[in-house]
Amino acid sequence: MKAVCVLPGKPDSVHLREVSKPSVSDIPGGRGVLVKVLRVGVDGTDKEINAAEYGVAPPGCEYLIIGHESFGVVEATGSNVTDLQRGDYVVATVRRPGTSLYDKIGTYDMTTDDVYFERGINLRHGFLTEYYVDEPEYIVRVPKGLSNIGVLSEPASVIEKGIAQAYEIQRRLRVWHPGRGAVLGSGTIGLLASLALRLRGLEVCTFGRTPPPYRNADLLQEIGVCYHNTQSTSLTASAQEHGPFDIIFEATGYSPIVFEAMNILGKNGVLILSSVTGGGRSIAVPADMINLGFVLGNKVVVGTVNANREYFEIGMRDFSLAQMRYPGWLSKLLTHPVKGLENFRQMMETLTAGENTIKVFLEVAPDEPYQD
Ligand code: BGC
Ligand code: ZN
Repeated sequence: MKAVCVLPGKPDSVHLREVSKPSVSDIPGGRGVLVKVLRVGVDGTDKEINAAEYGVAPPGCEYLIIGHESFGVVEATGSNVTDLQRGDYVVATVRRPGTSLYDKIGTYDMTTDDVYFERGINLRHGFLTEYYVDEPEYIVRVPKGLSNIGVLSEPASVIEKGIAQAYEIQRRLRVWHPGRGAVLGSGTIGLLASLALRLRGLEVCTFGRTPPPYRNADLLQEIGVCYHNTQSTSLTASAQEHGPFDIIFEATGYSPIVFEAMNILGKNGVLILSSVTGGGRSIAVPADMINLGFVLGNKVVVGTVNANREYFEIGMRDFSLAQMRYPGWLSKLLTHPVKGLENFRQMMETLTAGENTIKVFLEVAPDEPYQD
C-alpha cells in the first residue's frame, strides 16, 4: 500500500513510498483493529516535520509515515475486540504510552518521560497511508452523524484537553463563573477553541494577525465571537476595552504574546498555553509587574499538549452540540481537500501556502458504506 513519508532530519523529503499493509494479527492477543483510512488532516506540525525541524522515525527505520489527524472506518477486528466492529467510523489518538505513572493509567498525554511516542510525529508511524492497525484503547468511535467532520477530531481533542484542564484547575475557586474568554490565534485551533468556549456560554474575543476581510473572522462572527486584528490594535489595547479575561487560550505559535496575555488575564483567571514553539527566541519582559499581577490576582498559567481518549470523547459531544447550535459551521473549516495519496505534494504546498486555508486534508479513500 502507499504511504506519505519523510526522512526525518532531511528538509523537504516528503515522498510516496510502498509499504506493507498491516493486519489485525500484528497486534497480539486478538486485540488488533484494522482501520481503512478515509481522510487525514495536516497542520503546522507536519510542516515542521517536512522542514526537518521536528519528527523522529521509528527505531530501525529510515523513514517516518506522517499524518496524525486521522479519520477512518474499521475494516476488521481481532477475536478479542468487543467494543468496535467493521463499519464503525473511528479516529485514533496520537500518543502511545511510555513508562511513567501517568502512562500506566491511560493518561499518556501527561507523561513525565523525556521521550514520547506519537504516531506520525515521534518514533511511531502515522496515518497518511491506506490502512493502520492499533489496539482498541487508542481508537475512538465517531458517531455516524458526525462522519463528515470526523477529521477535525484530533485538533479538537487538543483544545478540549486544555479547556478541561482549566476547568479542573478552577475548582480551586469553589465557584467559578467565567464570563469573558479570549482566544489568541485564529487558525484551526483558535477557531475550535473559540467554539468550545462559546458552547460553554462565554463571551469570546478572538485575536489574530490577519486584517479583515478575513474568512475566519466571518466564521467567528457566525458563532457570536468578535474578531480583533492585532495589527491595527494591540492585544493590550483591545483588552482594555474587552477584558479582563477569565480564561485565555493561547494558540498563535508566537511565544512573546504569552507575556502580554499574562497581563490581560483577569483576577482568578487561567491562561492555557498550547503552542509548540520549537525555536530559540528570547525577549525582555516586565517581570516584576507580571509576577505581581499573578500573585495579587491569584492567577494560573497552564501548559497543555496532546490528548488521551477522554478528550476525544468530549470533542465528540461538543461537535454534536455545535451541529445543533451552529448547523454546518464545523464543516466550513474543511476548506482545502486534496484527493488521493499520490497528490501529497499538492497537499504540502497548500499547507505551506497558508493564508486562505483553514483545514487542509487528504481524501485517502472515498467513504463508501460497507455492504455487510
Ligand atoms: C499534535 C499533538 C502532539 C503535538 C506535539 C500536535 O500537532 O496535534 O497530538 O502532541 O503536536 O508533538
Ligand atoms: Zn497536530
